[in-house]
Amino acid sequence: MELHELSAADIRNEVTSREVSAVDVAKAALARVAALDPKIKAFMHVNEALVLEVAKAVDEKIAAGNEAGKLAGVPVAVKDNMCTIGQPTTCSSKILQNFMPPYDAHVVERLRAEDAVIIGKTNLDEFAMGSSTENSGFFTTRNPWNLDRVPGGSSGGSAAAVAAGIVPLSIGSDTGGSIRQPAGFCSVYGMKPTYGRVSRYGLVAFASSLDQIGPFARNIVDTALLLEVLSKPDKRDSTCADLDVPPYCAEIEQAPEGLKIGIPKEYFGEGIEPDVEAAVCAAMEVYRDAGVELIDISLPHTEYAVATYYIVATAEASSNLARYDGVHYGHRSEQAGDIIEMYSASRAEGFGDEVKRRIMLGTFALSSGYYDAYYLRASKVRNLIKMDFDAAFEKVDCILCPTSPTEPFKIGDRTDDPLQMYLSDVLTIPTNLAGLPGISIPCGFTKGGLPVGMQILGKQFDETTILRAAKVFEDRTDHHKKRPEIM
Ligand code: GLN
Repeated sequence: MELHELSAADIRNEVTSREVSAVDVAKAALARVAALDPKIKAFMHVNEALVLEVAKAVDEKIAAGNEAGKLAGVPVAVKDNMCTIGQPTTCSSKILQNFMPPYDAHVVERLRAEDAVIIGKTNLDEFAMGSSTENSGFFTTRNPWNLDRVPGGSSGGSAAAVAAGIVPLSIGSDTGGSIRQPAGFCSVYGMKPTYGRVSRYGLVAFASSLDQIGPFARNIVDTALLLEVLSKPDKRDSTCADLDVPPYCAEIEQAPEGLKIGIPKEYFGEGIEPDVEAAVCAAMEVYRDAGVELIDISLPHTEYAVATYYIVATAEASSNLARYDGVHYGHRSEQAGDIIEMYSASRAEGFGDEVKRRIMLGTFALSSGYYDAYYLRASKVRNLIKMDFDAAFEKVDCILCPTSPTEPFKIGDRTDDPLQMYLSDVLTIPTNLAGLPGISIPCGFTKGGLPVGMQILGKQFDETTILRAAKVFEDRTDHHKKRPEIM
């Protein structure tokens, strides 16, 4: 097996037992970047010298007899909306093109503390607003399974980098589906933990009541491993729960007993492509054969989720993005006579169309006289959506459904129709509104050979049941072992 085919857990074992050096693993990852990234365009920045320096330090630490971290020598890619000290963090926006953070995000600190080797920063839809990476201010990432298709978004670069075998692990952020949808489109694992499980300190905020950071991987053990590393209480994010980190890697070794999985009727049927539905229905059979009880459930307010999300998320975004004014942060226009002109010209030049659309929508929703009609009402509907899940979880341990209603679409197909693009996330958004954890795992392919992902959603802070349920499927199927030809 070649180095780029190894799992993160295997790399860690080989590096710590000194069968292979972290430097060799890093060189192999950099060689993959050089060979594949011109086609896929997953990366915003890669600093080869720095990568090799970090890898060398890991080798030296092990050679000196020190205990190696949980990700010793493992190459990891980081979405470019998480701060990395002294390295660009652009959010794929022209407004932050030259931004160098003075500190590391909590998750980046965690990766370094566990001796991971950060290979580079990955492309996203500008400020994580989008479902395809086509809203990146710089370039579009391509799906490793078919270069004419989108990899999903907004964490498209992180998903594609794992799918193409450049890195075994990456991290993304999920506000309305941005980890799970690209994971589904690229046939990898992608998990959004419970709101509050992973600190967002150093994540550039999009919609603060929804944003959550999580792992991408090529198998469930690696997913558990990275989640274990990322989840550590952190006082710098006041929403981060002060809970002991469950030993996920150990916990998934234990099969779930008497597992009950809910099948929500609103996530099937109309609007779901037949090949997608067929793959998820086949997965249900796998569970039935494994002795899992499948129970029909209803999440009746699902149809309001997208509308609710686009009020809440845009309102919060309009507030969060006020700081990019050419003074506090970001690009400053040269074309300005006075300060007001300077603010508006800087923002007009720096932000892309989708970001401007969201700022306008959100500012309107929060404006005097409209707050009750929009934001307050959306907050109430959000509560109803949460209560749907609470009622369902009285009967079941987790919920199974497709990740995306469609296969990965063609690049350019939805760029002229924002509403169509927003509907890409109908099946992922409710989870964010309810603050619940969810994973997307590979569950098959369409007749045309494109990936289909399915979600397993769980109770608050019960990532363990999700991981265990995913493992039941992984142990009985081979979808996750299939690789795109490019790999
Ligand atoms: N696609 C959704 C949006 O455009 C979700 C994005 C995300 O999760 N960051 O807002």
